Amino acid sequence: MNMDKITEFDSRVERSISIIVAPKDMFELKNRNFKFKQGRSIYALYELVKSHIKITELIDFKCDFDESGLCSERRTDDSSNNKMCCCIGCYDSIGYLGRGLPLLVENLPIYRKSFRKNIGFWRPETGCSLPRELRSPVCAFYKCWKLNEDDKDMNILRTARDVCTFAANEIRRLIEESNENKT
Ligand code: SF4
Ligand code: SF4
Repeated sequence: MNMDKITEFDSRVERSISIIVAPKDMFELKNRNFKFKQGRSIYALYELVKSHIKITELIDFKCDFDESGLCSERRTDDSSNNKMCCCIGCYDSIGYLGRGLPLLVENLPIYRKSFRKNIGFWRPETGCSLPRELRSPVCAFYKCWKLNEDDKDMNILRTARDVCTFAANEIRRLIEESNENKT
């Protein structure tokens, strides 16, 4: 396979102003210290996000799929929405990655391989093809708010989503600041 081939993912990301790829040396160590200026803080923030996403394994999202794998709550026969229910915006938003962590270079092959024209990371019958830890906070913590308003897990998900959104924004700021100090 030609690795230089521009994939659907690459061309979409190139046109996106919100998705950024993390500097290659961000977590590299030199004499037991991070080479990147804000590397230690950024590493702590990445771990913060990862641990919050892990929490979602304990949540019952109560999604209900029919025998063909379609969401029973939001499914519609209108072919214009691809039957993607809450993932309908995946292609246009590029999996909402612009509101998540800066992408690590080592994860780019997974994103490239999983992203397809019109459906993004979504797959008929099986749903999201991304590992949970590579999804944006928008996706990892999403649950039909309206459908489950009394659910006590809602507060956990909202809090975790807000923490991760804060951490992702903070990382972006630290990267920007470090890059500015280099020039
Ligand atoms: S979150 Fe809601 S719309 Fe999305 S799959 Fe679950 S039940 Fe369906
Ligand atoms: S959960 Fe997965 S398929 Fe759905 S919008 Fe997010 S990245 Fe796309």
